Amino acid sequence: MTKQRVLILGSTGSIGQNSLEVLAGLRDGFEVVGLAGGTRWEILAQQVAEWHPRHVAITDPLASESLRGAVGGSVRLHAGPDAMVAMLDACEFDCVIVGVVGAAALAPTIRAVELGKRVAIANKESLVMAGALLSSLAERTNAQLLPVDSEHSAVFQAMHAGRASDVRRVVLTASGGPFWNWPAEKMATATVADALQHPTWDMGPKITIDSATMMNKALEIVEARWLFGLRHDQIEVIIHPESVVHSLVEFLDGSMVAQLGTPDMRTPIQYALTYPARKACPSPRLDLAAMREITFHQPDTERFRSLRIGQEVAQRGGTAGAVMNAANESAVGLFRKNAIGFTDIATTVEEVLNRHDWMPDPSFEELMRADAWAREEVLRCVACS
Ligand code: MG
Repeated sequence: MTKQRVLILGSTGSIGQNSLEVLAGLRDGFEVVGLAGGTRWEILAQQVAEWHPRHVAITDPLASESLRGAVGGSVRLHAGPDAMVAMLDACEFDCVIVGVVGAAALAPTIRAVELGKRVAIANKESLVMAGALLSSLAERTNAQLLPVDSEHSAVFQAMHAGRASDVRRVVLTASGGPFWNWPAEKMATATVADALQHPTWDMGPKITIDSATMMNKALEIVEARWLFGLRHDQIEVIIHPESVVHSLVEFLDGSMVAQLGTPDMRTPIQYALTYPARKACPSPRLDLAAMREITFHQPDTERFRSLRIGQEVAQRGGTAGAVMNAANESAVGLFRKNAIGFTDIATTVEEVLNRHDWMPDPSFEELMRADAWAREEVLRCVACS
């Protein structure tokens, strides 16, 4: 059997490391042919030594010299800001896992879709920024966009129980993060350390803070809108602190189909690789009898304004997704430096969205300009508030 050739973009991060654990159990059917990271060259060098890919890419030019010294001539090295796109062009592959955090994933994701490959997408920002562009491009090139985000993987799996035209609504579950039941006054004084305490999922710092603001769920509303071609009013959010029901699809007859499992990213990563097949996976099994309770709570959109922002952005489309995403990345950066308070993150994103000149059908360049504008606008907003 010919092996599926896999590239991992963001191999040193949380998704990338989980992907390699999954691939360690799939060595019969899959082969790692390329790895890419940002600055953490030591981890990348260890991964190259263990996996022997033909290509490695590193976007930080300073770290690239150290990486070159560590890996020698055994692997083709791509370095610099365009290293990931260069690797996609130079490498023969079947599937790419996009585990890069933030807007930096957009250009390589577009290239992978242009190349008509299977794209296992863990990066929600590129779908939020450029969902319309990516989905129309995928239609032209027959690229497969497969969700790795746990909620979207759950929706994708549940969708198989019926026809897309018979879906009434999709319900995305949210852990609610550490603050879902905190009073508003206490939330306003939440510190960076408070926000980094996630109750169920172990993830990188940016996405953990996005869970605390529930901006993560706002991004996921927009992501679902593009991945599944839904209207914004077909996407709902429910708080489910136990994080075992990963999301649900309700069909026209009222039947709800859900996907359950332990909160472990290795399950959705593996399904995106093996779909439509299913294989044994290293994630722990869900022990239903050991679960004391499974609860659901209506989210408070007064305290979590980001949920309303997500609905509005999913409805507007155009440049709104790029602006929301960039403003959020920038505001989270300021919060992590203690330059703004926790609840200022959502209000700043809302303010920047209100100030922006919306365009209905932006090109890649126009999306990048909207992204850059939003980042600067956050600094202007904060400076004059
Ligand atoms: Mg998620």
